Amino acid sequence: MPRTAPPTRPSATAATFALVALVVAVAVGGLWWVQNKDQPSGSGDSSTAAADEGDRPATGDDDRDDPADGGRGDGSDADPGLGETAEEIAAQDFPEDPRVLVISIDGLGSAWVSKSSTPTLADLLAQGAGTLNARTEVEKTVTLPNHTGMVTGLRVSARNGGHGVTWNETSERTVAPGTESVFSAIDDAGGSSAVFAGKEKFEMWGRAWPGTIDQLEIDDDQPALVTEAVSDLLKDDHDLVFLHLAGPDSAGHHSGWGSRAYLDAVTEADADVDRVVSAIVADPDLAEEVVVIVTADHGGVPGSTHHSQRTQPENYTIPFVVWGPGITPGDLYARNPDYRDPGTRQPGYAGPQPVRNGDVANLVTDLLGIDPVPGSRLNADQDLDVD
Ligand SMILES: [Zn+2]
Repeated sequence: MPRTAPPTRPSATAATFALVALVVAVAVGGLWWVQNKDQPSGSGDSSTAAADEGDRPATGDDDRDDPADGGRGDGSDADPGLGETAEEIAAQDFPEDPRVLVISIDGLGSAWVSKSSTPTLADLLAQGAGTLNARTEVEKTVTLPNHTGMVTGLRVSARNGGHGVTWNETSERTVAPGTESVFSAIDDAGGSSAVFAGKEKFEMWGRAWPGTIDQLEIDDDQPALVTEAVSDLLKDDHDLVFLHLAGPDSAGHHSGWGSRAYLDAVTEADADVDRVVSAIVADPDLAEEVVVIVTADHGGVPGSTHHSQRTQPENYTIPFVVWGPGITPGDLYARNPDYRDPGTRQPGYAGPQPVRNGDVANLVTDLLGIDPVPGSRLNADQDLDVD
């Protein structure tokens, strides 16, 4: 696709860095968890959420239209994790003609990312650039507001310049007037996008930005959805493929975050990530071209069956991982001094920012070498460095 800025991306990596990154990531994740057990919730930013957009009881504001738990994936792996070939690919130069795959794991809190429960994610974190201490949107820790933030580079509150998607159910409503997306930015640049989502409510994106998403598939059968996404990656040449995995959220609502069923769904989602990334690794063209971003829309409090309380650290603390050719392994906060590790807090939108899932939109435009999403605010200078 046409470029507005040529990439100048040095290649630099070392296996030892990857190992150190994994150790640090696990240590930081564990530390965060220990801290959270002993400290009260972060204060959030009460000034940024209007009364009509504040928290409501979970029953009124949660994912009530979640599909039932998906069946088990077929991504079981005798030797979990990605292995050396993936590591060699990550050590290659940044692509001449990059493509981006975004995978959002619905309801995956950072506390459940580990070598044992999510071996693929742990490998992506070790081989790529990432953090387990990324943040959701400030105003909402539910699915549609956060996913819409991921693709618009905007906060939620429309009166503060956000995308305005405060609801979390299938609805006739759409984004605030004038809200653009990564899909429209790619379309404007002559590129194309595909979305594979596990919940019906994502159909809103097709109405919000008509004609800019070349393929929008919704399927609550997660293994089938992943198969479709893999097939699309192999056959089509979309600049952006966005894949939403609903399983952990569905299991969390049914059985509780941290329950056996939830942990199984997390491991299954990780196996699905493995399926997709392994397909990339196995294909020489894809292996040269595709950068993978994995993040989440929210987590969940252990034992709870909802996640809409936006001031709970377990709800707003999520992973953010970038892996692929030309992506330099390391902690995102260590390499991005303009971003501030928030500790256990959820900072407001004024002042230094943590890495947020809303940074995805302009990380995608940056990686593709096109202009930022018009009107976006998060990572709008494309200054979140991953290479
Ligand atoms: Zn949910």
